[in-house]
Amino acid sequence: MRFHKAESAFFVFITVILAAGVLIVYAYEAIDSAAQAIDHASRLEVLGQFARLLFATGVLQATALFFGIFFIYPLIRTQVKEEGKLRAMTESLSARSETLEHAALTDGLTGMQNRRFFDDALREYIEEFRKIGKPVGLMILDLDHFKMVNDTHGHDVGDQVLKAVAGCLKDMTRYHDVVARLGGEEFAIVAPNMDDTLLTKLGERIRKAVSGLVVVSGNVRLKVTTSIGVAVWDGQETAEELFRRADKHLYQAKRLGRNRICA
Ligand code: GH3
Ligand code: MG
Ligand code: MG
Repeated sequence: MRFHKAESAFFVFITVILAAGVLIVYAYEAIDSAAQAIDHASRLEVLGQFARLLFATGVLQATALFFGIFFIYPLIRTQVKEEGKLRAMTESLSARSETLEHAALTDGLTGMQNRRFFDDALREYIEEFRKIGKPVGLMILDLDHFKMVNDTHGHDVGDQVLKAVAGCLKDMTRYHDVVARLGGEEFAIVAPNMDDTLLTKLGERIRKAVSGLVVVSGNVRLKVTTSIGVAVWDGQETAEELFRRADKHLYQAKRLGRNRICA
């Protein structure tokens, strides 16, 4: 077994203290026999021995003190400092990994959940709702003629529109709905516990709300519309199959003239 430097120093410290203790016992015996000594000369001799023992005890105690102050205490200080440094490093690392994880699942522009989060959430909702036999609704939205917004008013105004739409979607949904930006001008909502009728009603309310948004940029008042495809999980299909079905409905909404919802 190997001892740490601080442990070895501590053993030395204890040994010196013990040795001082042993000397004190001897000194006690010496003073006791001095009390019982019959003649003056032997009493003086015992007292001399007592004085030497006391002196040796003092030396040992001074050694222990010196050792404690100049060896043990600095070792403890170093160790405390190292531990503090390590703790700070661990804390900053875990804070960093939390931030990274958050960044990996969040859309930078709108602050919404991103595609990666959405994919996992849809899969998890389907798995959980399979157990309880409840519906899971999926809605995919794509802004209409958004390229024209960028081309006419610039990319920054386009970004402003995307943020406004994101805020609107957040306002229109419940807190356990997953609202994500899939990329570009495409958004999705996972609405657990919603059947076809409820989901279509929600989609219609969202479509109207988006078409009512006004984004002001300089003296331009900008309006956008969105096409929406919805689908409710049929209890069998995978997340990918459900997504493809909702996407097909979105495509249909585009084909039928945009600014509408297809279920
Ligand atoms: P449609 O009605 O068929 O959906 O037409 P669209 O113009 O919306 O569709 P298209 O896919 O042709 O264009 C999407 C545009 O979205 C192209 C791109 O300039 C824009 N876009 C994608 N990501 C961003 C972004 O982060 N910011 C901005 N401002 N524009 C983006
Ligand atoms: Mg698109
Ligand atoms: Mg579009």
